[in-house]
Amino acid sequence: MSTSLIAMGIALFLVLNLVIGLAVVSLLTGAFETLFGKPRLAFLKASQSGNTFAFGFKWNSAKEPARIDMIKVRMFNPFGSPTQIEVSKTFEPFSSTFATEVDMGPALISLLGHQNFDNASVLVEVSSRKDGISFQFDMKGVKFKKLIAQASTTVKEYVAKNKLDVVKTSKPPIDIPIRSFIADTVPGKGPALKIATNPVFAGDFAGAAAGAGAGAAAEKAPTFPISKVWIEPGCIVCNACEDIYPEVFEVTSDTCLIRAGAPLDDGLRVQEAAEACPVEVIKFTKAG
Ligand code: SF4
Repeated sequence: MSTSLIAMGIALFLVLNLVIGLAVVSLLTGAFETLFGKPRLAFLKASQSGNTFAFGFKWNSAKEPARIDMIKVRMFNPFGSPTQIEVSKTFEPFSSTFATEVDMGPALISLLGHQNFDNASVLVEVSSRKDGISFQFDMKGVKFKKLIAQASTTVKEYVAKNKLDVVKTSKPPIDIPIRSFIADTVPGKGPALKIATNPVFAGDFAGAAAGAGAGAAAEKAPTFPISKVWIEPGCIVCNACEDIYPEVFEVTSDTCLIRAGAPLDDGLRVQEAAEACPVEVIKFTKAG
């Protein structure tokens, strides 16, 4: 066999090895990325029980550079379709793996305590407002509560375990007002609330849905006077009542008040507000 043939054989062997080697490396890195490159949300033990939500977050910050600065907890239909509640909070931005805790306010506690919460779908969203990136984790309400209850690693321990540079374990770094609200079924479209005087749902309330034509507006029920309206403890400041009847309800930063001299002649609107209240704290008595 000539020397040139042997040289060609060796070259071919080396090229084949190179190709196979590259394929194996590519497969392994792909599998590695799938297994370990996924964003991961860890529920951590909060330094104070109650409103505080502690969590750690890892993502591939080299592949998806972003300054993460917001956590949202969205609950779908905790009070029956079509309601959604969202509690969100911003914090000082992090551009790589981090752990922090944020004060989500009384809204979170109220929602966690609701009897229908366990079966509600919950979406935890970690995002960057500036970079438009968000990572979502969905689960049932019961699992969300379980993960909070079972969390045993503190923010400090998570930071030490992951050898992170920044430690933020004290009070929430930025005091942004907490907002929770009832959102549209599809943002910008359709009715937000299943209330008696919403023409789209009027058929349901009148018990005549089957016979009503699509989109037909049923006759509005007559209003009635009331003698008293009040708010019981537990308001989650969602603003629904003030949106419906601003002359009666005033939502402050931490509760809802009945305005001085509020009109009592339109009980139907007060009833709508009471039906829209996700935590059912609006009470009233009819006059007469
Ligand atoms: S009282 Fe008003 S603001 Fe408070 S939870 Fe009920 S609807 Fe929302």
